[in-house]
Amino acid sequence: MLDLTAALTRLKQDHLYRRRRISESATGVHINMDGRELLSFCSNDYLGLANHPEVVKAMRDGADYWGAGSGASHLVNGHSAAHHALEEELAAFTARPRALLFSTGYMANMGVIAALCGRGDYVFEDRLNHASLLDGGLLSQARLQRFAHGDANALNKKLAERDSGEMLVVTDGVFSMDGDIAPLPELAAKAKQHNAWLMVDDAHGFGVLGANGGGCVEHFGLGMDEVPILIGTLGKAFGTFGAFVAGSEEMIEYLIQKARPYIYTTALPPAVAEATRASLKLLQEDQWRREKLQTLIKQFRKGASELGLQLMNSDTPIQPLLIGDNDKAMAMSDALLKQGILISAIRPPTVPEGTARLRVTFSAQHREVDVDQLLTVLESVA
Ligand SMILES: *Cc1c(COP(=O)(O)O)cnc(C)c1O
Repeated sequence: MLDLTAALTRLKQDHLYRRRRISESATGVHINMDGRELLSFCSNDYLGLANHPEVVKAMRDGADYWGAGSGASHLVNGHSAAHHALEEELAAFTARPRALLFSTGYMANMGVIAALCGRGDYVFEDRLNHASLLDGGLLSQARLQRFAHGDANALNKKLAERDSGEMLVVTDGVFSMDGDIAPLPELAAKAKQHNAWLMVDDAHGFGVLGANGGGCVEHFGLGMDEVPILIGTLGKAFGTFGAFVAGSEEMIEYLIQKARPYIYTTALPPAVAEATRASLKLLQEDQWRREKLQTLIKQFRKGASELGLQLMNSDTPIQPLLIGDNDKAMAMSDALLKQGILISAIRPPTVPEGTARLRVTFSAQHREVDVDQLLTVLESVA
């Protein structure tokens, strides 16, 4: 039997022990946590919609009408007109024939990969893909092949080596711990050349990239022909909860029939779908939120490089500072916290060994003085 005490002690010794902080205020940039007021740079609420009055009102009105829960899975009788309307709006937003809601992004990724691939098939994944994409590959029991990060030629080589079976290429759109964007046009070309599906999980691109917030496919101008399987999550820039897959009529119909994490789980509360309908509208209309983010990102990158901090290759609101050692990253995060700044240290196994980092993220709600304050504090602890 696993010695849990020893295993936990080892995690502490390796500076890999994780603790939860208790938040006592709504999602936002100024929060109360563990009894203190903090300036936060670690939320994925990039557009500041999680606590937007119109989104909150839509959820409240939705709960008044629909009640608190959906009561059943989608295939039993949990699929409401609110879910259905949101799916139609997400299909229009992504310019795909249909979209399908999942309860979480984790489940969408597990569900899609395992529905499309099985024993004897091949799943090709970028080395830095999100854990849920890797777990989807494992769940499918297909042969899982990882290719060098963002390297279409490395992918091409692996694609050329396979002998039989279906092939699915899977990548993050914007990499969640690095902030860089996958080379989608090149990956799409290689996938097409080998008659493989391409699946893009754009959890961190939707709302942030593209003139209308359509994410990395809008950024690159790619349609369903290039990216037949497009995943979005609703808990990040959308500010609510849940996820969706957008694709062809047949793709969505097949997932409804086959994706077990879709079939065997309770549908999202309809009120969450109503809130997301409100946030989808704001996400598309409020161009200023994307522009504001770009201003903050430029200000931060300029200031951080003047301080000699190690930025990563990112133009997105995910602006990690590479630290290296786990204990050093933890010490910096703690020192920032003492000065009222909340930034989480990201350690292995979330990121590769020796690349612990401070994952700084920006929200359209931050002000330029907030970034100034962040830079001042970083200078004092670096
Ligand atoms: C957050 C995230 C997910 C998981 O989405 P949830 O809705 O939080 O389960 C999946 N993929 C990526 C790239 C993510 O960043």
